[in-house]
Amino acid sequence: MDAKLLDILVCPVCKGNLEYRKEGQELVCPACKLAYPIRDGIPVMLEDEARQLVSEDES
Ligand SMILES: [Zn+2]
Repeated sequence: MDAKLLDILVCPVCKGNLEYRKEGQELVCPACKLAYPIRDGIPVMLEDEARQLVSEDES
């Protein structure tokens, strides 16, 4: 994914910065504990589509 794109993307819930997880193809908001999926290289920035992180996902 484009690093410049990552720079401008924020969490739609808290407007915080996101962490790109290459291995899971997800954008993670540590504050909300939500992971937004990246589908075909396109980040899906919808709260409804986000995955709730469970404790073992935290790093
Ligand atoms: Zn957030």
